Order: sequence, then structure tokens, then C-alpha cells
Amino acid sequence: MSSAPTLTVSINPGSDGDSSHRPQNAAYRAKIPPNLYLEKIGTQWMQWRDEAKPGVRYYLDRLPDGYMLFEKPRPSNEKVVDKHLFGHPNHKHFDSPNRFFPHFLHLMNSNGSNIGCPCTVCGGTTLGPGLVSSGVPKAHSKAVTSIKRKWDSLD
Ligand SMILES: [Zn+2]
Repeated sequence: MSSAPTLTVSINPGSDGDSSHRPQNAAYRAKIPPNLYLEKIGTQWMQWRDEAKPGVRYYLDRLPDGYMLFEKPRPSNEKVVDKHLFGHPNHKHFDSPNRFFPHFLHLMNSNGSNIGCPCTVCGGTTLGPGLVSSGVPKAHSKAVTSIKRKWDSLD
């Protein structure tokens, strides 16, 4: 084991996490604690804040509420274990800490709101359902459609 000093970083309390978003596939196992995300996100966050010191490893004290990491051996190659982060309100998982980081950062900087979030999973959440223009990329308008459906189902 490395003797690099480790420091715990407390996250801000706000979150958009949805604890009803959990894997349906029984092959998934909960990864507790989710060290991969705690360390990568903790370190990136400290770097973003310009507070990271060389040689120090930073761990988040926890993931934002509602988020949970699961892992599953890949069917085509059991030696590869995919780690997926569940809990996004769009019910799509993040497949790496690098993809989650922009979302995490947005939550930390906006009291847990994902409005305006630039991450790949939020995609179109910055637009209201009526604001899809013809210039919107396909993936973008697809995300908006799924959100619209969600809103419609709340009636
Ligand atoms: Zn996001």
C-alpha cells in the first residue's frame, strides 16, 4: 500500500439524486464504499478548487444523496467489471467518474439543482419541453423528450 497521505473532503448537502434509480439486472452488486468515485471525484474537485496539494489523495466523505455505485462483470468478458453509478433523475447511469464529475460539480455549485448542468447524462435538462429548436442535436432532443414524458406522467 502507498503511504500517500489521504484527506477526506466533505461534500455540500444538495443533490438531485433519485434513490428509485437502481439496477434491474441481478448481476449488479452494490459497491460500498464506492472508493473509485470517492477518490477520483474528490481529487478532481480539489484540483478544480485549486486546493489540491501534490502527493495527497482526496476522498469525498460520501456521494451526493440518492447516488449509489454498482458493479457487474461484462458478459462478453467476465474479467472486465463495469462500474456504473445509479441515481440520476433521468434514470440513466454514469459509466465513469470522469463523466460524473461535471454533474457532481454542478450539484455542488447550485445547491443540488441540475438545471443548466452540462454533463452528458443531463443533456437537455437545461431546456424546457417547449424550447426544443430545430438546431438541437438528436441526443439532446431525445433527453428533452424523456423529461417531458416524465413531467407528463406526474399529472
Ligand atoms: Zn448533469
